[in-house]
Amino acid sequence: MKRFSPFAVLFALFAFSAAGQPAPAPTVAEAEAFLRNAEQRMLALSVESGRADWVKINFITEDTEVLAAKADERTINAGVELAKQSVRFDRLALPPELARKMKLLKNSLTLATPLDPKESEQLTRIASSMEGLYGKGKSCRPGKDGKEECRDLGDLSKVLATSRNYDELLDAWTGWHAISRPMRKDFVTYVALANKGAKELGFADTGAMWRSKYDMPPDAFAEELDRIWEQVKPLYLSLHAYVRTKLREKYGDLVPANGPIPAHLLGNMWAQEWGNIYPLVAPAGADPGYDLTQILKSRKTNDQQMVKYGEGFFTSLGFAPLPETFWKRSLFVKPRDRDVVCHASAWDVDAENDLRIKMCIDITAEDFNTIHHELGHNFYQRAYNQQPFFFRDSANDGFHEAVGDTIALSVTPEYLVKLGLLDKAPDTTKDIGLLLDKALEKIAFLPFGLVIDQWRWKVFSGQIPPEKYNEAWWELRKKYQGIAPPVARSEQDFDPGAKFHVAGNVPYMRYFLADILQFQFHRALAGFAGCKGPLNRCSIYGNKEAGNRLNATLSMGASRPWPEALATLTGQKQMDATAIRDYFAPLQKWLDEQNKGKPVGW
Ligand SMILES: [Zn+2]
Repeated sequence: MKRFSPFAVLFALFAFSAAGQPAPAPTVAEAEAFLRNAEQRMLALSVESGRADWVKINFITEDTEVLAAKADERTINAGVELAKQSVRFDRLALPPELARKMKLLKNSLTLATPLDPKESEQLTRIASSMEGLYGKGKSCRPGKDGKEECRDLGDLSKVLATSRNYDELLDAWTGWHAISRPMRKDFVTYVALANKGAKELGFADTGAMWRSKYDMPPDAFAEELDRIWEQVKPLYLSLHAYVRTKLREKYGDLVPANGPIPAHLLGNMWAQEWGNIYPLVAPAGADPGYDLTQILKSRKTNDQQMVKYGEGFFTSLGFAPLPETFWKRSLFVKPRDRDVVCHASAWDVDAENDLRIKMCIDITAEDFNTIHHELGHNFYQRAYNQQPFFFRDSANDGFHEAVGDTIALSVTPEYLVKLGLLDKAPDTTKDIGLLLDKALEKIAFLPFGLVIDQWRWKVFSGQIPPEKYNEAWWELRKKYQGIAPPVARSEQDFDPGAKFHVAGNVPYMRYFLADILQFQFHRALAGFAGCKGPLNRCSIYGNKEAGNRLNATLSMGASRPWPEALATLTGQKQMDATAIRDYFAPLQKWLDEQNKGKPVGW
C-alpha cells in the first residue's frame, strides 16, 4: 500500500455558503495565484504530517500518536478551508491545467458534511463512532471459570484461514458478523446526512460524489464497470464451480451442488480472497519444482539484498537508482526493542526525493514480491515529482496499487533465472498450480471488489431503502460472488458493516480497478518487451522500451484524465479485462476440463 496523505483522504467538514453575498467576479489571474498559494501551503503541511506520521509508525507511543494526529488535523483543516474558498472560482472559465487543479482540490472529499453545524457535528461523530465500533469489535462468550473469553478480528480471521471444521468456521463467522448490528441505526443517519452534504456541493448523492473522481459522468462510470465485469465473468464462473466441487469433497452436502457457496468456507472473513484454501483445491502434481523461499534462505539472503533485487528490477528498465537516503531512512527489519506498524508501505516524505519503504522483511517469496510491489509506489512517486504538487498523485486511485502489482507480475521463473536464483525455469506444464493460486487471490477478489460500492451507491441513491439493507447486501453477494450466508440473516443484522471500508467510510472501487488495470499494464508492457510466450511467463525485466513507456505514464502523475495515462501505457483509452482473461487462459482451459459434466453457476 501507499501511505494515504491526509490531504488525499480529506475527511471533510466541508461547508460553504451556497447563497452568499454576490462577490465581485474573480479573474483567471486570481485563480492562478490562489492555486499557487494553495499548492505551496499544502506541500509544506503534507511534508510536516508525513514526517510526524513516519515517526509515529516507527515508534508507536502515546506522544507520537498525538503529535501525528495534530499534524494531520492541521493539514486536513487547511485542505477543507481551501476547498471552501475554491468555490469562488466555480463559474470562471479557466485554462485546462487550472481547472483540473480546482477539480482535484474538491474531488478529494470522501465525506461532505452538511451546512447545518449541528448536522455536521452529528455526521462526524457518527462516522467516527462506527469506525470505533469496528476497531473495537470482539466476539465474547463465557469461558471456563465463568470468565469472559473474547476474540478480535485477528483471532477470528485466523480461524477462517486455517480451520477446516465447518462448525468452528461458522462460529467465528457469526461471531464477527454480530459486531456490526449496533451500527445499523447510525448508518441510516450517516447516509441521510452525508447525502445532504453532497447535495449541497451539487452532487446527486454521496455515491455520485465518489464516482465523480473518475473523469467520467457518474452513470457512465458505473456502466463501464458492468461492461468490465461481463468480460471477466466466465473465468470467475469456472473458478467458482471448480472450488465448489472441491469444497463438496471436503464438506459434503453442506455445500450445494449447484447453488451458492456458504460464505464461511473460503478462507477469508468476507470471502474476498481465497488463497488460504489453496491446499484444499490444489491440483495433483502442481508443484512448480522450486521454492523461492528455500532458495533465498539457503543463500542466506539478507533484508538489504532482498530490497536490492527489487531496485535492480527498476534500474534494469532504465530508472535511476534509489537515493542514498532511501537506504539510510527506510525500515527493513522489525526492531526488537519497540513497537512499529509492520504492514508494508511506501513513502515519499518530502513529495520529491525522500523515498522510503517501511516493512518488516522476512526472507520469503511473499516478501520478495511485496518489495517489488512497494518499490513500484516509490518509483511512481519519484516519476511524478516534477509535476505541480496537486498533480503528484496517480492517474486515478486504482493506478498506484496497479503499478506495484504489475511489477510483481514480472517476478516469473525466467526472471529468477536471470537473477541467478534459479538454474532453469520449469516447463509451462507446471503452471497450473501457480496460476490457480494467483486466481484464488486476483480472480476471486473481482466480484467482491464490485459488490461493496454497488451496494453503497444504491444505498446512497435510495434504490436500497434502510429496511432492505441486509437483504439487498446478500442479493448482491449472491448475484456477483455466488455465495450465501451460512445461517439465516434478518434486518436485525448489518453484515456490510462487518467490513472495515463500510464502517470507516472508505470508497472501495479502486481495488477493483487496480485488479483489472495491472493485467492490462502487464500485457501492454510485455508486448513492448517483445514477449511471445504465455503472459504469465512474461517478465519485462531488463527491457528499456517497456521502461520508457512505463516512465512516460508514471511521470504524468494526475496531470491528465486517467484515460490519457492509460493510453500512454497501453494504447487503449478504455479499461479492458481481456488482459486478465489472456493471462489466465491456460487455467481457464484446465478449469473447464475439471468442470466437465458438473454444474457451473448458481
Ligand atoms: Zn501498495
